[in-house]
Amino acid sequence: MQCVTSTAFGPAELLHRLRNRGTAAEVSPITHIERVPPRAGQAAPWPGWTDPTVRDAFTAQRIIAPWKHQAAAATLAWEGTHVVLATGTASGKSLAYQLPALSALARDPKATVLYLSPTKALAADQLRAIARLGLDGVRPATFDGDTPREEREWVRQHSRFVLTNPDMLHHSLLPGHARWGVFLRRLSYVVIDECHTYRGVFGSHVAHVLRRLRRAAARYGSSPTFILASATSGDPAGAASRLTGLPVTEVTEDTSPRGGVTFALWEPPLLPQSTLSLPAVSADSEFLDVELPPIRRSALRETADLLTDAVVAGTRTLAFVRSRRGAEVVASMTRRSLDEAVPGLGDRVAAYRAGYLREDRRAIERSLLSGELLGLASTNALELGVDLVGLDAVLICGYPGTRASLWQQAGRAGRAGGEALAVLIARDDPLDTYLVHHPEAVFGRPVEATVLDPSNPYVLGPQLCCAASEAPLTDADLELFGGEPAVAAAHALAGEGVLRRRPSGWYWTHRGRPDVDLRGTGGAPVAVVESSTGRLLGTVDHGSSHVMLHTGAVYLHQGVSYVVDELDLDDAIALVHQQEPDWTTHARDVTNLSVVNVRSYVDAGPVGLFLGEVDVTNQVVSYQRRRIGTGEVIDTKPLDLPVRELRTVAVWFTISPEALVAAGVEPADFPGALHAAEHAGIGLLPLIATCDRWDIGGLSTASHADTEAPTVFVYDGHPGGAGFAERAYGVAADWLRATREAISACVCEAGCPACVQSPKCGNGNNPLDKHAAVKVLDTVLAALPPSPGEARR
Ligand SMILES: [Zn+2]
Ligand SMILES: [Zn+2]
Repeated sequence: MQCVTSTAFGPAELLHRLRNRGTAAEVSPITHIERVPPRAGQAAPWPGWTDPTVRDAFTAQRIIAPWKHQAAAATLAWEGTHVVLATGTASGKSLAYQLPALSALARDPKATVLYLSPTKALAADQLRAIARLGLDGVRPATFDGDTPREEREWVRQHSRFVLTNPDMLHHSLLPGHARWGVFLRRLSYVVIDECHTYRGVFGSHVAHVLRRLRRAAARYGSSPTFILASATSGDPAGAASRLTGLPVTEVTEDTSPRGGVTFALWEPPLLPQSTLSLPAVSADSEFLDVELPPIRRSALRETADLLTDAVVAGTRTLAFVRSRRGAEVVASMTRRSLDEAVPGLGDRVAAYRAGYLREDRRAIERSLLSGELLGLASTNALELGVDLVGLDAVLICGYPGTRASLWQQAGRAGRAGGEALAVLIARDDPLDTYLVHHPEAVFGRPVEATVLDPSNPYVLGPQLCCAASEAPLTDADLELFGGEPAVAAAHALAGEGVLRRRPSGWYWTHRGRPDVDLRGTGGAPVAVVESSTGRLLGTVDHGSSHVMLHTGAVYLHQGVSYVVDELDLDDAIALVHQQEPDWTTHARDVTNLSVVNVRSYVDAGPVGLFLGEVDVTNQVVSYQRRRIGTGEVIDTKPLDLPVRELRTVAVWFTISPEALVAAGVEPADFPGALHAAEHAGIGLLPLIATCDRWDIGGLSTASHADTEAPTVFVYDGHPGGAGFAERAYGVAADWLRATREAISACVCEAGCPACVQSPKCGNGNNPLDKHAAVKVLDTVLAALPPSPGEARR
């Protein structure tokens, strides 16, 4: 990091220059500047219980003392309290679990520790960190799909710190628990790293895998303490308790040091009216789908301009762009404008992506550190080497989806003791629009919670089968797996002949093990395969496959564009070829919904709010091809796909027609008003729950047979629900207020992608009435009581 080209401008001057870029008459694109002050670290003494060999090993690594939050979480865990540490990126969460876990291993030469991470790469990092400490007798080892068979035996018998993942636990360790008996008997700690990644259906499965682990440990006589590490989120203790089924105490105060950051929220300026008919820059949206010409400059173009200015100012800057194609567009636009200014200057900017060979990536990282490169456009923080810190500025093109990712990206800026600049540039998306106008949602207490729903019957049933195949389920076990719903599920499974009830418990009746995919509910995921090479590009869950992978669909994978040649539903495979057409595809579907039951409701006079089960039938019937940029419809092609049925959980609200008319919405405008409110509501859900709009479906109608009133339904897109609708119900007033504000903050005339248009609308975004939608939401908000315990202002 030495010999860096000296920065000509500090962050404050750079920001000043950026702000003055436009003509004086323009409204400033900066909607908010937050100064995040530098923070001095607060160290704590090594807790008295720390084993001296462990303390010495850390001091040998030049860790002189823990930070206060590390010591607090570690001490809770040492005392046997299940704990979740939810603090920022690079706040040293590892030490907080290493300290009690390694001390326990030192104290009891037979004790063992199990560490779970969502990725192999993270487990490998942790393995290196623990091995580096050089502690005798710990013998840390990874146990994952890459571990050779002959090594697995050694790991089982000798390692006392096993690093693995939930899939391995599910497929290998738990079914083979007898071979792990000695390890399980001595199990003192279970560490769950990055636990916020266990959300939705996957999180619900993992919750049961952990209950199976607790049961197996108890069977061999241990009752381990759980230590969880999480990104900052709303209610980390609640999420951790749901995940483990145990009471969990949270530690959330971050006492690690950090450099100061000036953080600007940036909304690209309005386009002059005269340019509205010009094609927009393509690839701005990850969906590559534009209904109408955008009304603001594209976030990509804006990012490229800011990167250009930053490089001219001599500032080492990293721009994060959501798609790989977008990153390359930003890099090439930046290079072009730099070369126009100073021929050759463009060479100091590059694009960076996963597809590059490792050596190429290292070379790019090195030249950025040396100052040879000044600007880089990249797809994802996680693809960057851990060395790449200490940049002067970070540009974030579009909200990356969660606060955890936002802060991870912003955290790349800042040199030791120096000041850095971060800029979030809004894309035309309702959530981005909301965030740049509501800085408290970015910088205040987080409201976005990690949601999961272990009581989902489509998860619970298969998981009970797994548990029963590992050891017969007793009535006490059913309590562990959720009580009443688990008892009902066990009876249902017995009725199907899958389980058999005997006096000693419920038995799995089949020979083999149940085949359960942790990432799905019903329906095999569809494999996306490149025809010419046979390469598996990835999988798409069964539920999304008709919309995303129908024959003729343009499918984006890591920013590369493919066209689907054939979707074979029988074999769950989609054959694709690489192609970058100048059109996008847009599936049209027909959805019907009926209410099965109501779990809970709020009667608020003319307004009703409900949570319950619904049956949704959906058929993708055709798709349109639309010209990128103009949105011009090229043609509509029919599709022959079967109707699908989904039983899931929904939140819905109803409003009496009289109340709507009183609010100034004419009956003829009901459909457009409700439809617009539905779209924006789905767009804003990620504000309160870690999901994206593809996890969610919606339906709005001026009159529904089951509710007999104008109604907006928002439902979980996974069979049995994933917890998103439930979360929305719990904080409905906050959610709908944010929705209302996102729509009203948008300056467009009649609705645009930044407010009420949706990239996944099955009705071609028609009808939509944004002004009437605000009236709908005002009516609902006036009637609804505030969200319990979630008031943010
Ligand atoms: Zn708009
Ligand atoms: Zn729609």
